[in-house]
Amino acid sequence: MEKIFKRDFSELQGIFRRPEPINIFARQRMRELNRLFEGLSRYNCEPSCKQCCYGSILMSYTEFSAITLYLQENWAAKQVQELIEQRVGQKKDDGTLLCPFLHPEKEREHCSIYQVRPLICRVFGTTAAPCNERIEPVSLDDAVFHLGYHLLYYSGRQFIALNLDAKMALFEAPFALWCLADNSEADRRLLSFYLEHNGDSLGAVLFDRERNEFFTLRRGKRIAFSNARDKGREKNGNDA
Ligand code: SF4
Ligand code: SF4
Repeated sequence: MEKIFKRDFSELQGIFRRPEPINIFARQRMRELNRLFEGLSRYNCEPSCKQCCYGSILMSYTEFSAITLYLQENWAAKQVQELIEQRVGQKKDDGTLLCPFLHPEKEREHCSIYQVRPLICRVFGTTAAPCNERIEPVSLDDAVFHLGYHLLYYSGRQFIALNLDAKMALFEAPFALWCLADNSEADRRLLSFYLEHNGDSLGAVLFDRERNEFFTLRRGKRIAFSNARDKGREKNGNDA
């Protein structure tokens, strides 16, 4: 399968060397998210269904950090290496991204990072984001979703984003884009260049630091969020 970039993903080392205060924050927020969603452990999905795992699974920098910590602490080095080399950044034939943590061959436990899976993965199959399959969505109060969102995307009243360059910051992105953003200065520049020239951000939400505006790139077009799908709705700011 094709990769999203020509970049050799096997050399990604920087993503495992994050400053400790960020690690502490990510761990704490993921613990709080798990507590918040504790009552939702039973979904009505067919065990073999994983339709919502295909596509651009977006996550915050907090979730990305929590996942990489989980990999470091729970996976063997060889397994992590295989993930980075072979699965991160893979695109399906139809151009959509493949979640690197999906094990399509497994019937039941198809998610290899279930304890730290992103918020969006927890919301599918609930009343907050019902899917097209014939299942009874489990009840999820919108307020709970917003609380979870706030935990992961905000620190106090400021939203969390990672600056790519003087003009642009990354707010929400698939795992592979976060890997590039966090690996090195050179990779940040590469990612910035890719986003600007490719004209498709794979669903990622970017922040224009000059215009103070959230946007995404789709088929060469810049689509600004009027209220950023509630992104940054409480207060504009940039932690990173
Ligand atoms: S993280 Fe897990 S639940 Fe989420 S899309 Fe990937 S495999 Fe599916
Ligand atoms: S939420 Fe829907 S698409 Fe996702 S696993 Fe459940 S039934 Fe399948």
